[in-house]
Amino acid sequence: MKVEIIEATPNPDELMCKAARNDYGADATSDIEEVLETVEGETIEEKKENLIEKLFDRGHYGVAEHPTITVAIQGVSRALMAQLTRHRHVSFDIMSMRYVEIDEPDIYEFPGIDDSEPTGRGGEFDVGIESWTDDEISQKRREKFDAAVRGSYQTYEDLLDLGVAPEHARMILPIGTKVNIVATMNVRTLLHIADMRAAGDAQKEIRDMTEELLEIAEDWCPIGIGYYRENLKGRKNRLAP
Ligand SMILES: Cc1cc2nc3c(=O)[nH]c(=O)nc-3n(C[C@H](O)[C@H](O)[C@H](O)COP(=O)(O)OP(=O)(O)OC[C@H]3O[C@@H](n4cnc5c(N)ncnc54)[C@H](O)[C@@H]3O)c2cc1C
Repeated sequence: MKVEIIEATPNPDELMCKAARNDYGADATSDIEEVLETVEGETIEEKKENLIEKLFDRGHYGVAEHPTITVAIQGVSRALMAQLTRHRHVSFDIMSMRYVEIDEPDIYEFPGIDDSEPTGRGGEFDVGIESWTDDEISQKRREKFDAAVRGSYQTYEDLLDLGVAPEHARMILPIGTKVNIVATMNVRTLLHIADMRAAGDAQKEIRDMTEELLEIAEDWCPIGIGYYRENLKGRKNRLAP
């Protein structure tokens, strides 16, 4: 899995500050020094930090809807895609299975196969296996998974050879088939996704993806995302109850 920024609003922290000060009569088109003149702090960085902290603590998240980020999320399963695309304030482009022929290595991964515990509600299932991390069991799981995936991929190839169109032949491919996604969202939506998908009851693959997304987003928007990661992360649904 790879998560990378393609494009993003320049100076996202600054933009949030300008939008917020607009609400209290400042001219948002002025320089940041002027916009933050009355905000507490010795330096501009300190002023930005103080203001953003106050905004996020008070739930003034509207300002976080202005900066936007576009990311490429590559090599994730179609199960993850189904989860991520439930978020309605994100714009998506998804790699087509009609126009792109699926290669064998694209389906040979099973995120979570060696998870020591089933995620969240999965714990309710009694599978009668004491050690989830037993090497022998792990090996057996892989063999079973590989056999099923190879079988379905072979059938896909056979159907294409028999003249079936890719859009019909793809029905045989597993939900773990990899896909590449381009997604655009604002900071508020990104943090809402983090609230929902970095949480312990989300599936491992999307949790990992969300952590990666947060990490690269913090490089882009250090104050806003940094404050969220340090102080607000883990409080489910706080951003959009
Ligand atoms: C661990 C986990 C398990 C899940 N299991 C299932 C499952 O089994 N089946 C299933 O169908 N889904 C499941 N979901 C998906 C979940 O129910 C949401 O549909 C998904 O996470 C999108 O998030 P959201 O509802 O916050 O909406 P988003 O689209 O992310 O919207 C953000 C916020 O905007 C507001 N909003 C957006 N649209 C509306 C609207 N039409 N009306 C009112 N407010 C709106 C809400 O406040 C919402 O929280 C699961 C999610 C998680 C995290």
